[in-house]
Amino acid sequence: MSAYRCPVCEFVFDEAKGAPREGFPPGTLWAAVPDDWCCPDCGVREKIDFEAVGESV
Ligand SMILES: [Zn+2]
Repeated sequence: MSAYRCPVCEFVFDEAKGAPREGFPPGTLWAAVPDDWCCPDCGVREKIDFEAVGESV
């Protein structure tokens, strides 16, 4: 699975962990996250701005 990082605040969405507080359970694929989903930490960057940070352990 992969992880994606917000370029502003470095919040990381890890597919293996999901983002439970955002309503995405562990195992949620990045492709399943809506394109208009905003970073939950800074709120100024959307999914398309996130950077892939490679495979998670
Ligand atoms: Zn952010």
